[in-house]
Amino acid sequence: MYIFKKQKDVETFLSTQSSSIGFVPTMGALHPGHISLVEKAKLENVITGCSIFINPTQFNDLADYQKYPVTLENDVRLLIEAQCDFLFLASLEEMYPGGTSVKYEFDLGPLNTVLEGKYRPGHFDGVCYIVDRLLNIISPARLYVGEKDFQQCMVIKKLLALKTSKVQLVTCPTLREENGLAMSSRNMRLDDTQRIIADQLFKSLTYIMENQHEYPFEVLQNRVIKDLEEKGFIPGYISLADADNFELLDDFDRNRNMVVLIAAVLGDVRLIDNLRM
Ligand code: AMP
Repeated sequence: MYIFKKQKDVETFLSTQSSSIGFVPTMGALHPGHISLVEKAKLENVITGCSIFINPTQFNDLADYQKYPVTLENDVRLLIEAQCDFLFLASLEEMYPGGTSVKYEFDLGPLNTVLEGKYRPGHFDGVCYIVDRLLNIISPARLYVGEKDFQQCMVIKKLLALKTSKVQLVTCPTLREENGLAMSSRNMRLDDTQRIIADQLFKSLTYIMENQHEYPFEVLQNRVIKDLEEKGFIPGYISLADADNFELLDDFDRNRNMVVLIAAVLGDVRLIDNLRM
């Protein structure tokens, strides 16, 4: 696997390749969820690349940024095992030539002000800036993202539309631990007991899915909030949305594709998950 630390080096390498590129942007601390994206990209492209860059502007909480796990040696090992062709280890200076204090804004509409957008102001502008910057450097045919970050998938879809980009967005299913906990780099910050309790997020989502025909959404939402609080979580949101346009819904609507999204804090770790209904 080629490892590039400079924009010009990855660009020179890619300029010699005429084949389709599949690209997986990440913030590192890789786990099997990330690797599943690399594997999917390998099936559909001649060249597969991954980037690792902990993007400061998408963190609205400095402590969260500073505590973000870094496991580079293991990441490289996993990517080599997955036969990823290249890794771009982007640097802060090159990704932000104008510095990180410049405000980058994208016309994301309500996506920027509901759920994750509301709880993490500026988060999606930071995501859009870095994805756009990386796409300009890599010019992939296909971009691989995880449905684990459902709202982020919608945001990137909107970004590609805003940029009239030809890049094909491929959303991949969420990989989970045996107990249902969605794999996440942030799980590394949970202790052993918290890791066991953290399955309550997925339990909540499956409880709502299994009972959606018996009760209104609000009843299920209130039960889930109570259960989460009993287990020591601080719930953020448990919301129902149209899975196609992300319109928030008060109740189940059989004429729509729906998704339930959940965010809750356990200890000092904020976890998110979602499930299609
Ligand atoms: P991150 O490093 O957290 O920014 O994630 C990089 C990419 O991996 C994003 O597109 C995520 O949605 C995706 N991803 C993260 N966790 C999972 C998972 N458990 N299953 C599938 N994809 C994931």
